[in-house]
Amino acid sequence: MTSTPSPLVDPFARAISYLRVSVTDRCDFRCTYCMSEQMTFLPKADLLSLEELDRLCSTFVRLGVQKLRITGGEPLVRKDILTFFRAMSRHLDTGTLKELTLTTNGSQLTRYADELAALGVRRINVSLDTLDPDKFAQITRWGRLNQVLEGIEAAKSVGLKVKINAVALKGFNEDELFPLLDWCAEEGHDLTFIEVMPMGEDMSPLRLDQYWPLKDLRTRLAGRFTLTDLTERTGGPARYVRIEETGQKVGFITPLTHNFCESCNRVRLTCTGALYMCLGQEDMADLRAPLRASPDDADLEQAIRAAIARKPKGHDFDYSRQKVTGQMTRHMSHTGG
Ligand code: SAM
Ligand code: SF4
Repeated sequence: MTSTPSPLVDPFARAISYLRVSVTDRCDFRCTYCMSEQMTFLPKADLLSLEELDRLCSTFVRLGVQKLRITGGEPLVRKDILTFFRAMSRHLDTGTLKELTLTTNGSQLTRYADELAALGVRRINVSLDTLDPDKFAQITRWGRLNQVLEGIEAAKSVGLKVKINAVALKGFNEDELFPLLDWCAEEGHDLTFIEVMPMGEDMSPLRLDQYWPLKDLRTRLAGRFTLTDLTERTGGPARYVRIEETGQKVGFITPLTHNFCESCNRVRLTCTGALYMCLGQEDMADLRAPLRASPDDADLEQAIRAAIARKPKGHDFDYSRQKVTGQMTRHMSHTGG
């Protein structure tokens, strides 16, 4: 019998139990805050195969990862992606993995919601910044609102719990705060707002322009409703309030104005096998080399442990001096947000 390996704990005594995996850098949308219109994507040979992703994620699960979030790019545009979900669902069956979930733009959900639910996915995050078809087309460049709304409906109809993630954008969806909230209440979806982050090359003027601090958004909410802070923590940058009048739970992801690093339980894997120990730092560990070097998982496991031992204490994003510092040049679609 093999002994249970010791779990992953970083130098600041944080246990790593959550892995976010980007399975592709490609996407069928071109959201303005995420990608440029002309993106150069990675050559296929650089990508981990679905088998390699399976081996890598399974190693993390063996080392104590209990939650896997599949993301991208758009995870559901990766060819045969259900093969990968099927592979991961075996860890749900054994109970070693507690949650298998994904973040999606929703465009492919009419096609996949059913099978995802059958494979043990229970909750999904769908990114949706506006309910106005024209504004949706403007912000996603290539997306169609109807297709996404139908996808969300399909997810709901097979019993998937949907959380809507909306990026708060100054001058863009400020006027939709209450309509979005009402729609989520009617549909039974949770809602989380995300502060726009300085990711991607040379986008800082645009980002500052679009920056709508969630502090302001919250003040606006509090002008109409009674908000109660919830103590619930996910180990990530989300904080939640309950709206007493409607019972709705609303989340705020404020990586720029709030320090959440002390309880960070997560690492991020890109589709090329780079492990980022912090969303806001450049340091990464190449796991593809040890993965491809040997069929024995021992080297891989050692590389993962060495990477976790380098997990930094926190990130350096800062908008406070009216210029973006600590900016990351990589795109969100690379690390998976
Ligand atoms: N394509 C999927 C989707 O849109 O949900 C998954 C990948 S996407 C990179 C993950 C999340 O990152 C989305 O909710 C998106 O809105 C968010 N995101 C992308 N660029 C961002 C930025 N610059 N600042 C804040 N959030 C961003
Ligand atoms: Fe695609 Fe998601 Fe980025 Fe939009 S946010 S371009 S849907 S990866």
